Amino acid sequence: MKYAIISDLHANLEALQAVLDDASPKVDAVVCLGDIVGYNANPHECLRIVRETCAVVISGNHDQAACGARRYDDFNDWAREAMDWTRQQLSAAEVGYLRILPGTAPFGNGWLAAHGSPRDTDEYLFDAPGFEMAFDSLRRLRPDMRGCFVGHTHVPMIWACGSEGQVVQVRAESRTVRLDPACRHIVNPGSVGQPRSGNPLAAYAILDEEAVTVEFRRVPYDIPAAQEKIYDAMLPPLLAERLAIGR
Ligand code: ZN
Repeated sequence: MKYAIISDLHANLEALQAVLDDASPKVDAVVCLGDIVGYNANPHECLRIVRETCAVVISGNHDQAACGARRYDDFNDWAREAMDWTRQQLSAAEVGYLRILPGTAPFGNGWLAAHGSPRDTDEYLFDAPGFEMAFDSLRRLRPDMRGCFVGHTHVPMIWACGSEGQVVQVRAESRTVRLDPACRHIVNPGSVGQPRSGNPLAAYAILDEEAVTVEFRRVPYDIPAAQEKIYDAMLPPLLAERLAIGR
């Protein structure tokens, strides 16, 4: 099976459509790692497409805030403003859908879908100590899993844990990374709707279980159209400006 792994869509319809157009001919199924809503201006459309398209969907911290399952007074000012706006938009049915999304879900041949880390929707994994703890919690909570896909940081990366427990970041020499069968892996595909690694193109990944590879992909989309909708909705202008620089 080939899976498209998409994360942190954040109500960016233009980016989501471009990613699905790119992925559809290449994959058998789509897995969504959460944060469907928040920041951008098309929550209804993105929710509808995710419900129709994705075989596996889990909940992100913004999804939890949008359906009242979590407080969001810890969000920064513009995230909080965007969440206030998002909550005004959503219908009771959309809130109901977000409420029943699981926090994690297994898929494929021993893979776990998570938002922040295997143990916590809200945990940011950036560096070696973080990934060491994440591999540890994956081993404790889901010893049956060979690896995990996470989102949340909006920064694509891949880390490996060897049989001796040594944790290293895998430097992708090409955009396709061959997975070492002796290792467990934690993979972040990057963000569809608000990339933050300095590259404004929409990011996602393709897991090929037969070839045992992960391909990191980048897709151009109509950024000015997404920005215009943010301005029209009177969302914080910073949310539009950051799309152009991928920060
Ligand atoms: Zn996010």
